[in-house]
Amino acid sequence: MSLSRVLAQALFPRYCACCQCPIAHAALCTPCLEALPLFFPEEGNLLLRADIQSQFSLPDCDGLIACGWYHGVLKRWLCDLKLRQRRHAAALLRQVIAYQWQHYCTEQVPDVDAAIIIPLPWPRLINRGFNQVMQTWGSVLNDQLPILPVLSKRMTPTQQTLDRRARLYNQRQAFTLASALTGRRILLVDDVITTGATINAAAQLCRRAGATQIWACATCLTPA
Ligand SMILES: [Zn+2]
Repeated sequence: MSLSRVLAQALFPRYCACCQCPIAHAALCTPCLEALPLFFPEEGNLLLRADIQSQFSLPDCDGLIACGWYHGVLKRWLCDLKLRQRRHAAALLRQVIAYQWQHYCTEQVPDVDAAIIIPLPWPRLINRGFNQVMQTWGSVLNDQLPILPVLSKRMTPTQQTLDRRARLYNQRQAFTLASALTGRRILLVDDVITTGATINAAAQLCRRAGATQIWACATCLTPA
């Protein structure tokens, strides 16, 4: 271990965010990471699960992968990052995402050759200062898949206030795609999928642009 790292650890000791045991590099210790209630990548495509297929409307997606349900610590860390700009929450989520992504890759799921991160509308991006999806998934995927900056999003009324039908209408007109995706196998990445309306609207656009496979991917799925 380098002298600078030894000094850094002595001056700024790190502790696991869950059990508070001292750790060297990460945000969570391995036992706490392994104990998180994540989906099992061995299950493969989550759309093959009856409970998930009945809850999320993703007719333009060939598959779905995710880390876990939107509750407990995953919900807390996502809120800490998105609403309170806590950098530590980004480190925690990146560690969870890297762990889960690696397991999905071991299972050879999903079959994709490029990723598209669901963008924020410009006013929201300027206001928040960062896209929380890029901040968490960006560095994890960056080494393995090209991230295509081809999707943009207009400002629409906030999704939380709308019912399912209004969400679908709201999202249908929201996205613009800047280039053809002929023959591409795309991973569409968002932080939370609540009904599927947002990510499916983007998937529909990718399909029309020539993508042959589209997988939805999220940090969390909102439970029913
Ligand atoms: Zn721990």
